[in-house]
Amino acid sequence: MKEGLRELPPLPAILDPGNSTRNKTGGWGAFKPNIDKNKCVYCLLCWIYCPDAAISRLEEENKVEVNYEYCKGCGICSQVCPVKAIEMVRR
Ligand code: SF4
Ligand code: SF4
Repeated sequence: MKEGLRELPPLPAILDPGNSTRNKTGGWGAFKPNIDKNKCVYCLLCWIYCPDAAISRLEEENKVEVNYEYCKGCGICSQVCPVKAIEMVRR
């Protein structure tokens, strides 16, 4: 490590594990995903690929749902869905 980097303060640091649940990041997006639960085949690709862990599994229904408080509207879920069950719409 270069000497100059050692002089930088140690922040930003996560001193309070789990604090990301308090930071609602969903307001950033211009679009949001709409899931057609009738088309969904519960492959979970959207759940795996969502970079914000904004998709939850509804195990009893074998469906998924989006938590809009954390979804940033990136659209990755709609791109990976094999049955085109996710449509991105304006917020
Ligand atoms: S739009 Fe992006 S952030 Fe929102 S649920 Fe889909 S993959 Fe996750
Ligand atoms: S990727 Fe599509 S089919 Fe798979 S769980 Fe998500 S919404 Fe359902």
